[in-house]
Amino acid sequence: MSLLIANCRVVSPGVDLPNAAVLVEGKTIAGVFPAGRKAPAADTVFDAAGAMLMPGFIDIHYHGAVGYDNTDGSVEAVARIAEAKLRDGVTTICPTTLTLPEEQLAASLRTVAEYAANPAFAKVAGVHLEGPYINCTCTGAQNPAFVRPPDIAEVKRLAAICPVAIVSFAVEEAGGIEFARQLAACGIVGSCGHTAASYGQLAEAKAAGLRHLTHFCNQMTKLHHREIGCVGGGLLDDDLVVELICDKIHLCPDMIRLAFKSKPADKVVLITDSMSATGLEDGDYSLGGLAVVVSDGAARLKSDGALAGSTLQFNTALKNVAEVTGLPLSRLVQTTSLNQAASLGLKGLGKIEAGWTADLALLDETFAVQAVFVDGQRKV
Ligand code: FE
Repeated sequence: MSLLIANCRVVSPGVDLPNAAVLVEGKTIAGVFPAGRKAPAADTVFDAAGAMLMPGFIDIHYHGAVGYDNTDGSVEAVARIAEAKLRDGVTTICPTTLTLPEEQLAASLRTVAEYAANPAFAKVAGVHLEGPYINCTCTGAQNPAFVRPPDIAEVKRLAAICPVAIVSFAVEEAGGIEFARQLAACGIVGSCGHTAASYGQLAEAKAAGLRHLTHFCNQMTKLHHREIGCVGGGLLDDDLVVELICDKIHLCPDMIRLAFKSKPADKVVLITDSMSATGLEDGDYSLGGLAVVVSDGAARLKSDGALAGSTLQFNTALKNVAEVTGLPLSRLVQTTSLNQAASLGLKGLGKIEAGWTADLALLDETFAVQAVFVDGQRKV
């Protein structure tokens, strides 16, 4: 079956083509036809009415949405969140866990594995374990009761249940540098987060294979002029990939601009870090067993006011970054899927080009999602 998405503005890394058409054959993009080049006939024609067609987004760090959390322990929860993600244009996900006992993590991974075996909505590219190997002084909204030292054997037991793509941990904890090396040897992305590491400790972990910084600037050592910390390291080191929560709460607009000005185009990945209240009203919620109150869209722990994830939707993140930085969309869409795919080794995702997978999000000029295609099938 062939599908022609006609009358669309194709926005892909390095490319911005108004009045274009995209031909999809089966699960794959078969061709991109700029204005003036005749598009071929197809079994089905979808008129995009001039909307922006982008590579489907990849969210590598999120906890929940629409009243559910990835660690609820039910396949229904994982699926309902994946459905909400898809409505935001997200076609590939890394369901993210919290600092919890191993039995609860194992139960969560079983539900993700069951969903991933036959995904009805967004596709799963492995789990992101956020914690439990974090610094007790930087827990944020992670439950300090379940923090423990890095343990590659536990990661391997969990990965046997469902593939683990990313582990966020504090590199300065006992055995942290060796753990960075062990993760790299397993093909798992090591990401430094919830950390009090010095820049020296971060550099040592990087030499051992660490690749990412988890929700950059949040719950990590600040930039000081005599010790640049993980924030300074993220800005200074071109090879570190930084996760950005662009809700204008976790990062103020000026910090978003500074990050985009400082980092190479291929080392920024937008994430949502969304929690269960995403897509719902302000009110009382919980995260990993901790009470959370959401007010004006900002989720904070009731106990100490620490930010407790976001209520950010992925399409809004891109809208915010476009407004704040003024950078062309053809550059920004690199940070919504291609960079994630490159870092996780996901082949064929992140560009609208012949031969690439037909995971596509169609957005109007307000960044509202109009349609979503996964493997060439319209899902939204
Ligand atoms: Fe976190």
